[in-house]
Amino acid sequence: MDTGDSEGLAKGQVVVVEDEEDLARVLAFNLEQQGYAVVVCSTGQEALRRARALKPDLITLDLRLPDMSGLDVLQQLKDVPDTAASSVVILSALGDEDTVVTGLNLGAEDYVTKPFRTAELMARIAGVFRRRGVTATTAARLQTADLTMDLETRGVTVAGEEISLTRSEFDLLAHFVGHPNRVFTRQQLCHQALGAGDTVQERTIDAHVRTIRRKLGHAGSYLVTVWGIGYKFNPPDTEG
Ligand code: CA
Repeated sequence: MDTGDSEGLAKGQVVVVEDEEDLARVLAFNLEQQGYAVVVCSTGQEALRRARALKPDLITLDLRLPDMSGLDVLQQLKDVPDTAASSVVILSALGDEDTVVTGLNLGAEDYVTKPFRTAELMARIAGVFRRRGVTATTAARLQTADLTMDLETRGVTVAGEEISLTRSEFDLLAHFVGHPNRVFTRQQLCHQALGAGDTVQERTIDAHVRTIRRKLGHAGSYLVTVWGIGYKFNPPDTEG
């Protein structure tokens, strides 16, 4: 291994929380190939200990661990300022949509469903790192494919045509466009996009999304329903 003396030895630090040994080994190998520094933990307690000590950039979190639920691990991570900044990608079993929704609401950034292709997880992880880098920049204008949003004038165009959105519709769409390919639950959209807390019902989000899709015409199809989980913005020419 290269042991250079400058910073940037690794692209970032990843803690893999996974009790299936073979899977943990495959994940560690692939992440190291991608240039990440990797630590593997097989229990929830070990994960919490390591996360507090290392403050990793990213944690891949299996939801079914021998000693505790991955959701409990996530809750404890997000409750502690030291570890709250680590991005978490959940590894869930098929049919665990409710658990995934809870995990996203607790602050996980993304999830993949087992069994998954390693390449898919690597793409998700790269996406999280990319967003971590992007978050710092403040753009007054969002553009993706043929959709543009001016955050100052609150103007929206699709293929050059002006679109008229209400305040809530604009805020919701801006949240999606600012976080492409990231799945949000309805509760997250209420809180993060509309700043509405629990005063807005989750089905209001569905109504807003329906209206936004209709108003955007063909670009409405970029707003994708993720069955059982929520919604994501999936513009053309980006990975899903
Ligand atoms: Ca497991």
